Amino acid sequence: MNMRLHNTLTGRVEPFEPQAPPEVRMYVCGPTVYDRAHVGNFRTFVASDLLRRALRYKGYRVKEVMNLTDVEDRIIGFARDAGSDLRGFTERHIRAFEEDRAALRLERPEVVPRATEHVPEMVDLIQRLIERGHTYTADGSVYFRIGSFPEYGRLARLDVSGIKPGARVDSDRYDKEDVRDFVLWKAKHDEPEWAQWDAPFGRGRPGWHIECSAMSMKYLGETLDLHAGGVDLIFPHHENEIAQSACGTGRPFVRHWFHVQHLLIENETMSKSKGNTFTIPDIVARGHRPEAIRYLLCSGHYRKTMNFTWEGLHQAAAALERVHGLLTRLGEVTREGAPGTEVVEAGLRARRAFDDALADDLNTPEALAAVHGLVTETNGLLAAGAVTREGAGLLRAHVEAMDSVFGVLVAAGEDGLSTEEQALYDARQGARRKREFGRADEIRGRLEKLGVVLEDTPQGTRWRRKR
Ligand code: AMP
Ligand code: ZN
Repeated sequence: MNMRLHNTLTGRVEPFEPQAPPEVRMYVCGPTVYDRAHVGNFRTFVASDLLRRALRYKGYRVKEVMNLTDVEDRIIGFARDAGSDLRGFTERHIRAFEEDRAALRLERPEVVPRATEHVPEMVDLIQRLIERGHTYTADGSVYFRIGSFPEYGRLARLDVSGIKPGARVDSDRYDKEDVRDFVLWKAKHDEPEWAQWDAPFGRGRPGWHIECSAMSMKYLGETLDLHAGGVDLIFPHHENEIAQSACGTGRPFVRHWFHVQHLLIENETMSKSKGNTFTIPDIVARGHRPEAIRYLLCSGHYRKTMNFTWEGLHQAAAALERVHGLLTRLGEVTREGAPGTEVVEAGLRARRAFDDALADDLNTPEALAAVHGLVTETNGLLAAGAVTREGAGLLRAHVEAMDSVFGVLVAAGEDGLSTEEQALYDARQGARRKREFGRADEIRGRLEKLGVVLEDTPQGTRWRRKR
């Protein structure tokens, strides 16, 4: 289960140690649902998906929470302009996010809470902060007093004493005692009714940061094992999450912080004003497959900025094709016999390299190199006629195991047999060799129930899927 991961809090790559192994309690800051997420946002979501899959591969059980930010200034503004209420407006963006998530083969986190459904939890946390003396009120809004938390700035390595009065560290424009302070609860001004909630400290709505603290702790407990997000969230968002949570509970908030570097487009920062943000459907409309997008996003190390180019996307598609092609050829092997040592050794070597790469701060480029190393070796063994059907099954099982992390190496609906089907197939071949025809027929029936039809020919046994 050993895995080393970079921790933003300490600035070091260190052993990842959850509090109650094998369980990992993990939180990821989810999308703000006022627009379709762009491929940059998805770099962060693909990286956190790789992380959860890698943890599971290493034997952990993951409980992940990813929030949906469905109330904030922009959302209220856009919903109002669209003549809609909050729910009506955010619903279609949430649906779009789900579609993109499925297209990129992101696993759905165990809990996907919406901010608007957790306002009471946020009110409770603010209430606790008020009682513990970490807040003040101005014009009906409640602020967190950063001066009350000496550790403020530790995550981002800020010297907060150096921030000049007048400098803006938060986007809220209210009457703060100190520019560094941030809003926990915004008093109502002229927002529509659907963007207001009652609270003991007045009618209004929660600030952005308090959402993540309240929802993560509700589902994962007061101390999380792992918290992920893009690097732009380190300050002020995550710094503020720490301040609110630690001051509310008196306990450390997060043990391990995981931050994903940004995706650039043709070496430029993505921004709406430059017109260089692309959504997943935008890219698909240009003739690219979502699998290639996922592969490209998996292929860089999460702590290095990554450059998105159309050329890179073509290369990703070609690399993927190479793996899919191998799986197809393995499915065509008909020679019987036990797998040779070369085949067994090639598989084990690739797996060792793969496992080591993942354990080393989720080194996905190295892990993919191990996959491609196995493809090269297997191609050589196939050309030499050194692979039997059983050996092919073994090699395929290695690729499938590695694909439990990458989620894209085995083509969806691809024609190869699943591990279970392959095992039945092999068992039937074994039974036939021993002339146990009754048993062979019984296994044939089980495969047929799974939708796989067998045909015995002089060249060996073929299979096809039932239409
Ligand atoms: P948002 O919907 O703006 O709250 O962002 C959702 C997630 O995407 C956050 O974790 C951001 O840090 C992340 N993000 C935003 N832009 C990029 C980018 N260009 N590359 C990678 N991640 C990004
Ligand atoms: Zn957050």
